[in-house]
Amino acid sequence: MGQADEQNFYYANTPRTHTHAALAGEQRFDVCIVGGGLTGISAALHLAERGMRVALLEAKHLGYGGSGRSGGQTIFGYACEQATLEKTVGQADARRLWDCIVEGMNLQRELIARHAIECDYTPGHMIVGLKRRHDASLRAELDHLRRHYDYHSLRFVERDELRTLVASERYTSGLHDSNGGHLHPYRYTLGLGGAAARAGATLFENSWVTRLDVAQHAGADHHVHTAQGSIRARHLLVAGGALLGRLIPELQSKLIDIGTYIAVTQPLGEERARSLITHNAAVADMNWILDYFRLTADHRLLFGGRVSYSGIDPFDSARILRQRMATVFPQLTEARVEYAWGGFIDITLNRAPHFGRLGPNAYYMQGLAGHGMVLSTIAGRIASEVIGGDAERFDIYARIPHARFPGGTHFRRPALVLAMLWFRILDLL
Ligand SMILES: Cc1cc2nc3c(=O)[nH]c(=O)nc-3n(C[C@H](O)[C@H](O)[C@H](O)COP(=O)(O)OP(=O)(O)OC[C@H]3O[C@@H](n4cnc5c(N)ncnc54)[C@H](O)[C@@H]3O)c2cc1C
Repeated sequence: MGQADEQNFYYANTPRTHTHAALAGEQRFDVCIVGGGLTGISAALHLAERGMRVALLEAKHLGYGGSGRSGGQTIFGYACEQATLEKTVGQADARRLWDCIVEGMNLQRELIARHAIECDYTPGHMIVGLKRRHDASLRAELDHLRRHYDYHSLRFVERDELRTLVASERYTSGLHDSNGGHLHPYRYTLGLGGAAARAGATLFENSWVTRLDVAQHAGADHHVHTAQGSIRARHLLVAGGALLGRLIPELQSKLIDIGTYIAVTQPLGEERARSLITHNAAVADMNWILDYFRLTADHRLLFGGRVSYSGIDPFDSARILRQRMATVFPQLTEARVEYAWGGFIDITLNRAPHFGRLGPNAYYMQGLAGHGMVLSTIAGRIASEVIGGDAERFDIYARIPHARFPGGTHFRRPALVLAMLWFRILDLL
C-alpha cells in the first residue's frame, strides 16, 4: 500500500526542528527499544525517568507508523469489547485492564501539560449509532460501564439532540464521553520524543533493526543489529506495531496489518467547520468498517474510514473517502480534499492487545489496533514497570490468550478478506 507520505496532513504542517542520527558502531545501553511510535517513545521516557540508559531504534523517523498517521481520537477502552476481556482474564483483571486505560487518558493529559506539547488536545469523544440495534447497544454499554467499571463520564445522546451536535441525518443516537477527545497525533509523538530525549534517552532514526539475538538466560545481553551498528542491552522491548513485519515470525503470526485511510478537506472557515460538529468532539460510528471524523485546529474536516484487508491499496482513497464524507455531510459535496494518506493498524484475532515475553528481560507490545493513542501512552509506563522489576500489570496483559490467524502465511489474508466481507454485510443489515 502506498502510504502517500507527502499527502499526510500532519507531516505537511509539522516541520521537524530536530532529527536524530542513525545508529553507528557497537554501543551498550541498559534497555534497547525497537520502534519509534508512541509505545516505544512512551517507554523510553518512563524508563529514562527511572534513571536507566535507554536506546530507541526507529527504522525511518519518529511517528512513521500509526502514531504519525492516526485519526487522533483518544477513545476509552480497547478495540475488543470489555466482555472479551472479562471472558479471557476474568472480571477482576478485566477491571484492572480498564483502569489502565482510564489512567492512560489522565497520563496523556498530564504529559501534554508537563512537557508543554502543542498537539491541539481537545476534550470530547462520541460514538454514534446508525440503527435501532446500535441504540440499544450504546444504552447497554453505558449501563455496563457505569455499573461495573465506575465510569461516569458517559452520556447517552438522543437523536434530536444529536442533530444539533453533528449536522448529519445519518445517526440515530450517540454516547458522548467527556473524558475522551482528540489530538494531533504526530505532534504528540514528536513532543513525547523530545521529552524522552531531554530525560536522557538516546533516540536513533533511520536505524532499521534487521536482526535480533535475544538472550536466553537472565544474566546475558540481547544483541540488536541494524545495517550500520548494533546495541547490546540487558533489557529489550519490541514495539514495532504493524510495521514489524517478519522480524519475529511468531509475533507476525498473531497479527494482521490492515490498511486504513484518512482524508482532510480544505480549510472550511471556523463558522462552517463548527456548524458540522458544534461541540467539536471526535466522532466514530458503530459499524465494523467505520467512518470516523473530527475537526482540525485550522477548521478542516478530517475524515477516516474504509479499510484494505487485502494488504494492497485497491482504490483511490481520496476519491472514495470524499464519497463517504458526502454521505455523512451532503453539505460538503463541494469541499476540496487537500490531503489523503493511509497507514496500517495492527490487529489480533480477538482484537485485544498482544503483550508478552520473547525470553528473560525481553518483552513485546503489539496489537494496539485502533485504540493506540491512549493505550500506547500507558503501555510505555507499564513497560517501564516490568523492566524495572514489577511485572504485575504487564502480566495481566500477557495472560490474554491469542490465536494465530488461520490460513498460515499464504491463506490468512484471503481468509480475512472473506471474513470482512461478512462483517460488511452485517453493517448493511
Ligand atoms: C490511518 C490510521 C488511523 C488511526 N486512527 C486512530 C485513532 O483515531 N485513535 C487511536 O487510538 N488509534 C488510531 N490508530 C491506531 C494508532 O495509530 C496505533 O494503535 C498506535 O499509533 C500504535 O503505536 P505503536 O507505537 O505501537 O506503533 P507505531 O506507531 O506503528 O510505531 C511502530 C514503529 O516501529 C517502527 N519499526 C517497525 N519495525 C522496525 C524495525 N525492524 N526496526 C526499527 N523500527 C521498526 C516503525 O517504523 C514505526 O515507526 C490509527 C492508525 C492508523 C494507521
